[in-house]
Amino acid sequence: MRWFAALAALLVLAVIGARHLPPEWDPRAPLDLTAPPNAMTALKLRWVRMSPKACFAAFETSHIAVTREPDRPSEVGCGLENAVRLPSTLWMSPTQPVVTCRLAAAWVLYERNTLVPAGVVGISHLGAQACRNVNRDRSGRLSEHATANALDIAAFRFRGLELRVARDWARDDAPLRGLRDGACRWFGAVLGPDYNAAHADHFHLDMGRARICR
Ligand SMILES: [Zn+2]
Repeated sequence: MRWFAALAALLVLAVIGARHLPPEWDPRAPLDLTAPPNAMTALKLRWVRMSPKACFAAFETSHIAVTREPDRPSEVGCGLENAVRLPSTLWMSPTQPVVTCRLAAAWVLYERNTLVPAGVVGISHLGAQACRNVNRDRSGRLSEHATANALDIAAFRFRGLELRVARDWARDDAPLRGLRDGACRWFGAVLGPDYNAAHADHFHLDMGRARICR
């Protein structure tokens, strides 16, 4: 539905002209990751996903400093390109992981619009880059982890409380399902315990081409 709204907005813009639009509604303006999301946000995030230039422009516009990692070519498809240290205001364990710029952009939107409003103050993760296939299979497709385009979250820390995906997913009173659903708004694929046994202890968030929310 968001897509229809964004397309309708674009159509209206084409008719009335986009000259005097505020930047958050102007499709040509870089995505401001700190602005309240609107119907244009999903469209701009899609552009950020396709274009590293648009991604770094988004961080610049948002005045969020990112530490860029040097590109690292790989002959087996496990290279690092346009990667940054995850710019997060949350406490992170073990450290701030290195991820693609597009994953970092989706993360900032997730953090600001889902995690912080839900009371999350910290994250435990299982890492981002790992040179391996999907589900650690011996053959098959390379995982989005191979290029640091995916991040696995094992636990969310609130004040005085930690919710672990492995232990607390089945609890009805735990807001883990809301955090999973919230992620689906920003990331391409979001896989958790409902997806398969390989994801019983974490949420997998990636910015690959597949769109799954389970
Ligand atoms: Zn994963």
